[in-house]
Amino acid sequence: MAAAGERRREPQRHDFVRQAKRDDAPAHGEDVGVVVLARQARHVEIVAERRAHAGHFVRRDLFPLTAAAQHDAAIGAAVGDGAADADADRRIVDRRLAVGAVIVDAVSEPRERLLQMFFQCEAGVVGAHRNSHGQRLYYVREMIPSVVISARGENRLRDGHPWIYRADVADVRAQAGDVVLVRGPRARVLGHALYSDRSQIALRMLAGAAAPAPGASGGDVDADALIRRRLDAAIAFRESLAIDATAYRLVHGEADLLPSLIVDRYGEYLVVQALSQGMDRRLPAIVSALQDLVHPRGILARNDPRARTLEGLEQRVDVLAGEVPESVRVTELGIAYDVDLRRGQKTGLFLDQRENRAAAAQYARGRLLDCFSYNGGFALVLGRRCQETIAIDVSEDAVARVRQNAAQNGVAVDARVGNVFDELRGMERLGERFDTIVLDPPAFAKNKASVANARGGYKEINLRALKLLEPGGTLVTCSCSYHVNEADFAEIVYDAALDAQTHVTVVEKRMQGRDHPVLLGVPETYYLKCFILRKLA
Ligand code: SAH
Repeated sequence: MAAAGERRREPQRHDFVRQAKRDDAPAHGEDVGVVVLARQARHVEIVAERRAHAGHFVRRDLFPLTAAAQHDAAIGAAVGDGAADADADRRIVDRRLAVGAVIVDAVSEPRERLLQMFFQCEAGVVGAHRNSHGQRLYYVREMIPSVVISARGENRLRDGHPWIYRADVADVRAQAGDVVLVRGPRARVLGHALYSDRSQIALRMLAGAAAPAPGASGGDVDADALIRRRLDAAIAFRESLAIDATAYRLVHGEADLLPSLIVDRYGEYLVVQALSQGMDRRLPAIVSALQDLVHPRGILARNDPRARTLEGLEQRVDVLAGEVPESVRVTELGIAYDVDLRRGQKTGLFLDQRENRAAAAQYARGRLLDCFSYNGGFALVLGRRCQETIAIDVSEDAVARVRQNAAQNGVAVDARVGNVFDELRGMERLGERFDTIVLDPPAFAKNKASVANARGGYKEINLRALKLLEPGGTLVTCSCSYHVNEADFAEIVYDAALDAQTHVTVVEKRMQGRDHPVLLGVPETYYLKCFILRKLA
């Protein structure tokens, strides 16, 4: 506890002892017990018990005990008189999740009131209730869950990265999904984070030491208030963007200082994804904040990404509030889409490409080929400006939706089920030519190990597309693999141009839309690259 806090409490402590002496002298002989409880996975267990005279208890024992419980259990050095006391203290500090608790037994009423006052005001102890026999007063203070990280972890935080990997965790006194106090190797407080006991990413920072802490006790209530403020700011930012769509991202995880939380808006409905133990545990509070801030007709949790299994969390889809229909109509850039929020890819649509579709439309003309079309985002927006549009996707469901969306919006699209790799080769054999080609494949590199294969895949489709493109034509080429960064992707496309024996200029270098912003210093948040290229000859 801060020195200032100690000074502030000092007079009160003396008052209490003085008052106790004056008002109820015999009470000094009464028994007051100190019990320290340890919270195990699902129950509370008594791990140490001492009995002492009240005065002794107040002056000597309670402070080290509450300090031990409140701060860092490791600080709780034995201050007791005897070896037994020392042992008890040590047992407290050995426990990972200690809860300091005091049981006041069989004391006279005025004294009970004083004790109550003392525990609540001085020791900052919270909560008081009687047991089933109405005999005792219990005062319980939960220890702040905490995690100590290594010097390397501390450096990483200082560089602005909000993740701490398991290898940089030195000591854990917390449970899965807790909001924890993060300390450096020399006990310096570094901030608060969400703790995961399964993921390689053990900590996701919520607040640095300088930022307002999630609350004096590190408890859930204040973390929830912090999350609510961040939600409010994230939503206000999206409102300021004047987005030409009724579907867009409201919360983009780390980039909104809400690590591992995604919230997408589809008209009057919201879709959330909680991708860590900590965010998963806070979903009820998140849902209630979203209801207050957005007033949606329904909130769906698309908690089915595979990333959840790395956290030991179930993959599931649940309606968390209101009602969510089977199909939700939204518009984007003047095109209407019927979206299946429960089963569509990602949270229903690829919202991150909206601005790239709008940019690409400026160059679209003649014959258009949209590869990896999904529900037809590029085909429909660009197709309005083209003479002929072919869309290809390997998924029959996706192609059925392209046809439905095309009919609904009055855009002519020849939507085909097929493997783009085969189709491009086939078209090349047939001598087909296009004026505009879009390549928006799924992430070929899902992890570092698959980067070499992914490079081959990206090069192949870009090479084929450049061969199919007329001179003067436009290639819109994308990669959403974080593991292939912008420079890598530029190199791959350059290799493809060399092999295709053509000169290519970069007309625009783009990324994910403004509602999916990139957090500087956190490369993981820059995943989508989109180059608009012109084939010269
Ligand atoms: N361009 C789309 C998003 C594409 S997502 C949009 O703007 O909304 C990637 C799509 O590629 C998915 O729909 C998936 O079904 C499809 N896909 C994956 N591998 C494929 C392959 N080899 N050939 C064709 N489509 C493929």
